[in-house]
Amino acid sequence: MPVTFGGLEAGGTKMVCAVGSGPEDLRDRSVFPTTTPEETIPRLVDYFAGAAERHGGLAALGVASFGPLELRADTSTYGHIAATPKPGWSGSDMLGPFSAALGVPVAFDTDVNGAALGEWRWGAAQGLDNFVYLTVGTGIGGGALIGGRPVHGLVHPEMGHLRVPRHPDDTFPGRCPYHGDCLEGLACGPAIEDRWGRPADELGDLAVAATDMEAHYLAAGIAQLVYSIAPMRVIVGGGVSKLPGLLPRIRRRLTDLLGGYPGIAEHADDAFVVRPALGDDAGILGALALAGTANSA
Ligand code: ZN
Repeated sequence: MPVTFGGLEAGGTKMVCAVGSGPEDLRDRSVFPTTTPEETIPRLVDYFAGAAERHGGLAALGVASFGPLELRADTSTYGHIAATPKPGWSGSDMLGPFSAALGVPVAFDTDVNGAALGEWRWGAAQGLDNFVYLTVGTGIGGGALIGGRPVHGLVHPEMGHLRVPRHPDDTFPGRCPYHGDCLEGLACGPAIEDRWGRPADELGDLAVAATDMEAHYLAAGIAQLVYSIAPMRVIVGGGVSKLPGLLPRIRRRLTDLLGGYPGIAEHADDAFVVRPALGDDAGILGALALAGTANSA
């Protein structure tokens, strides 16, 4: 019998819960809206307590959360959401209520580090020592695994807030509450809708121009990651990554931006910038993969 884990993909609009042991064994999936922490967290605790009963106990829980997060285990606020623009959620404890109620180890990390772990274990990054997982949706976030471990330090990487050169035709001011025109401010899904007046999946005759501009920004961010982290692959997930033709445009633009330096053929290969092999399940499977790290710790 495989060990059964619990996974929580905690997002700013919805909470995805499941139990299981991997892509072939993903059970009891439930989705709850993200309202207030006072209402949402007890509901999630109840779900996992019930799931533990229904499935003969959970070995561990993985919580892969939107951030920013406090991930330093030696702080009193370890497991809490840090200062977030999402109303009501700053300071919320995303770990304590679960470990208290369930009595099992709880692993905690960012949603994108979780997704990266899932892709490393079962998806597009198997066998890679160093890669990046980017998600482009309501916001932009990035996780990195180096030597099989998610990158943490004082905080976790915040790749969505890299500063990128503006597209020469872009007059949109950007929508990041901190920076205006950082990568997320210019290239997240809501930025596309604000700039073009239509959501990313309804662009119609604007699709070519919008996709070109999106590729311009994402390639600029990825070029900085190439030079700073030296990833062996960059996985691009999230709703916006499904824009038809986006990935080939990112690859071409990235090749232009690198300008032949350092001249590594792999950077131009189709296998360098890819979509998640786990598709829309990358997030919840990442939470289960994260749970697996708690169990072995
Ligand atoms: Zn920003």
